Amino acid sequence: MNNKIWLSSPHMGGNEQKYVKEAFETNWIAPLGPNVDAFEKSLTEYLDIGHCAALSSGTAALHLALILSEVKEADEVLCQSFTFSATANPIIYQKAIPVFIDSERKTWNMDPSLLEKAIIDRIAKGKKPKACIVVHLYGMPAQMKEIKRICEQYDIILIEDAAEALGSEIEGVSVGTFGDFGVFSFNGNKIITTSGGGALVSNDEEKIDRARFLATQARDPAPHYQHSEIGYNYRMSNIAAGIGRGQMEVLDQWVKNRRENYRFYKENSFYEFQEGISGLESNRWLSAIIAGSFEEREELRLRMESENIECRPLWKPMHLQPVFQNYPSYLNGVSQNLFKKGLCLPSGSNLDKSDLERIVKLLNLKSI
Ligand SMILES: *Cc1c(COP(=O)(O)O)cnc(C)c1O
Repeated sequence: MNNKIWLSSPHMGGNEQKYVKEAFETNWIAPLGPNVDAFEKSLTEYLDIGHCAALSSGTAALHLALILSEVKEADEVLCQSFTFSATANPIIYQKAIPVFIDSERKTWNMDPSLLEKAIIDRIAKGKKPKACIVVHLYGMPAQMKEIKRICEQYDIILIEDAAEALGSEIEGVSVGTFGDFGVFSFNGNKIITTSGGGALVSNDEEKIDRARFLATQARDPAPHYQHSEIGYNYRMSNIAAGIGRGQMEVLDQWVKNRRENYRFYKENSFYEFQEGISGLESNRWLSAIIAGSFEEREELRLRMESENIECRPLWKPMHLQPVFQNYPSYLNGVSQNLFKKGLCLPSGSNLDKSDLERIVKLLNLKSI
């Protein structure tokens, strides 16, 4: 049997263990410490954003973004339907109501015209949505210029789920810095990992200070433990942040490798890919294709599986998920169609030329 090729596996740069060792040697084995400070600093600089709080997960960052947006029970939150469930779950944690918005064909992300239509309709129905969560799926930036304009026009807080998009840019500006809040994930399969972690970024210093306060159990400034608010245990550990520091040193190279994977697939196969539009620079976290039909996609997926190559269908849209299907949604058929025919190809920054050639050979054995 050929060796396994994973969809997207962790890829260490080399210095991660040095920073983790430092944490041990100085006994900073805690959800704070020099690695956390340094990791936050390097993210802030990389993104060119004002402030950053390192957290235990991307999901925690999304949850805090909603709390800081004052999303409360029965409030409505506009949310891209075509995404991973972690984007939408925190809306339910707040007992708020997700309103799902379909995607457009070019970026596979939130359709700006459908977003505006939904806002007008929700207002007509008597309630203006409080916040909007847009996703940069598989690293591809959404059409932020239009989405930001619409959210500003209707005074709706904009949250960017950039969990998959560290390293992606729009005309040279990092995604995650366009909205009121940006969210990143450092889970094991993301472009860089801290073994599990996330970050919340914003230019609003007060909001990020408050995120840190809420993420450390909302302790009032008092010598004893006093609480005026409900807190959370959402801070990143100094061990995880040590891994993150090492990963930041190789981030640019990992983005380059993933973009090269994409280029190789595109040049050596006949499939349609997630193209985007000019000015939107994806980090190509995952390279994804669209097959001609559901049957062709399944045949291809199983062909890969039988050769020990991990591929994965695109995200099942939230409006089709059993747990979310009864919430309001504004649809155009795009995400459902992508879900039916799309497939993510192995995209790790640690794939070598022979891995890619093995994959492309199978990709081109079109038998239907
Ligand atoms: C991974 C991911 C998240 C959640 O991040 P975690 O760190 O795993 O909690 C949220 N949204 C999207 C789009 C993701 O891919």
